[in-house]
Amino acid sequence: VSQQSAVEYLAHGQIPFFRLPSVSRPAPLPAGTGAVILGVPYDGGTTAEPGARFGPFQVRRVSAFVQGWHSVHRLAVFDRLRAVDGGNVVFPPFDAAAVRSRIEAEVGSALRHGVVPFLVGGDHSIALPALRAMARHHGPVAVVHLDAHFDTSGPEVWGEPVHHGTPLRHAIEEGLVLTGQLHQIGIRGPWGAPTDGDLGADHGARVVTPDEVAALGPAAVAGSIRERVGDLPVYLSLDVDALDPAFAPGTGTPVPGGLTSREALALLRGLAGIRLVGMDLVEVCPGRDHADVTGYVAAHLLYEGLALAALRVPAVRPSPPDRE
Ligand code: MN
Ligand code: MN
Repeated sequence: VSQQSAVEYLAHGQIPFFRLPSVSRPAPLPAGTGAVILGVPYDGGTTAEPGARFGPFQVRRVSAFVQGWHSVHRLAVFDRLRAVDGGNVVFPPFDAAAVRSRIEAEVGSALRHGVVPFLVGGDHSIALPALRAMARHHGPVAVVHLDAHFDTSGPEVWGEPVHHGTPLRHAIEEGLVLTGQLHQIGIRGPWGAPTDGDLGADHGARVVTPDEVAALGPAAVAGSIRERVGDLPVYLSLDVDALDPAFAPGTGTPVPGGLTSREALALLRGLAGIRLVGMDLVEVCPGRDHADVTGYVAAHLLYEGLALAALRVPAVRPSPPDRE
């Protein structure tokens, strides 16, 4: 059984992501594991309201109410994928370099075992070490990036090169993202300067604003991304502030005029068939949330990401090799 029953969940009193089996690392993942969900309780990269370090705890709690059967894809996501909760990545929360190296090691280890990693942040700075591990394993990847912000800011703003406004800058400069394969959805203004989008534009990034998502429809936007990424390895980086603050108030740098929950969910569903090699879901800040609105949409968006990975798993799998 891939998920605990509701009764087991109540009886157990602990809440792994989606009531999945929980694996305390560094214990090895069970043979046949298809995905590992890791909490990354770090918000030392936030520039405004902190608190995203508590995101994994909130998303775990509310994700207990997400059921496994995908009614659109017609798929038992957790049965097919065999996902586990790998706990939180552990680090001293005031040592940014240690945080990055722990994340890169954890993501790299999952990839070496053929397991798709899903990170639940934490602030968006955690995407950089994840992308470093992705590129080391797969080579440069396509990136689908949902966000209000470009996240290609430079050190001139805060006098520090690495924070939650910069992961895509470093990913581009370090060659982790394929040219022409950065797809940024939900981006909106106002900007700090007219040149804010230049770094991405020079790398062939495609930017789709919330107005364009509303005009074209999320299915059409997703379809055009699917066409452009083909069978390339795709990393999905989802900053919850891509959504409008009406739908995701619990985040540190909210920007009005964003995606609706329905648009964001439809967009992810529309990506069915892509070769998803990893995902992060970041910037959930429970202290600013109301009635778990942001927590719930985050859990459901994470579920949609897991469904994308599950869709790539053959219905009948050969017996898995033993893991070390
Ligand atoms: Mn953002
Ligand atoms: Mn971001």
